[in-house]
Amino acid sequence: MQLGHWQLDTVNGGQFRIDGGVMFGVVPKSLWGPIAPADPHNRVLCANHCLLARDGRHRVLIDTGCGIKFGPLERRYYDLEPGDPLLESLMALGVAAEDIDCVVFSHLHFDHIGGATRRDQQGRLVPTFPTARHFVGRIEWNDAVGDALELRTAYARDDLLQLQHSVPLSLLEDGQEVLPGITVRVTGGHTRGHLAIILQSNGQGVVYPGDLCPTTAHIRRFWCTAYDVHLAETRRRKPLLLGEAADRQWLVIWNHDPRVAASRVQHHPKREFVVCEPQARL
Ligand SMILES: [Zn+2]
Repeated sequence: MQLGHWQLDTVNGGQFRIDGGVMFGVVPKSLWGPIAPADPHNRVLCANHCLLARDGRHRVLIDTGCGIKFGPLERRYYDLEPGDPLLESLMALGVAAEDIDCVVFSHLHFDHIGGATRRDQQGRLVPTFPTARHFVGRIEWNDAVGDALELRTAYARDDLLQLQHSVPLSLLEDGQEVLPGITVRVTGGHTRGHLAIILQSNGQGVVYPGDLCPTTAHIRRFWCTAYDVHLAETRRRKPLLLGEAADRQWLVIWNHDPRVAASRVQHHPKREFVVCEPQARL
């Protein structure tokens, strides 16, 4: 779709399955089960809608999906989509890895940054987008490469440090502009330094809330993932961002929703928000 001067496309970062309890936290299965049917291992299907924005000068990729580095055990555990979905999806749009000049991450969990690196034929870790500047929230970066034991399993620290040595990396503050028309907000919640990314052009806008609100089911204030490090912050910040999206008629990208890649949202007197104009892809 065209949004002002941006051509926007959702790009497949590789779908996967994850435990329903992880995806919906304290919400009982009797409530989420009918909305997100679980497989025999209690796993629900997660899409991985990354966002490609092109304006003739820049080719910006927001999040990079799971990547292709995983061994058979992890592939089975997460039922990772086979092949190289991210590059195949970009290729279908006529975009090669070398064409991407900006990569922006909502946060640094494996299903968002995994696609940013891969192994070459010698087994060395190399960047997928070698000529792109990579943008990460400063707080998120510091948490991910820091030595807090409670965060150690949440991030692939060595991969991140290798990425830092291979590509230009910029650390972003709250409200900072990545390019003209693309700004980030530190939302916290899912992770302390989690970012929402907002694109605006000619009075139109689109927001990529990342895992602050990963699916349309999570539009409810109290439906949050069990991974949310600061649950109360998600419950506070998510409705504020959705309210702004409703007021400004921004398009919202639901990065893990297997049915709806993007929609508008509206205020609702009882349910706080409802989804409208759902689209399976951009
Ligand atoms: Zn995620």
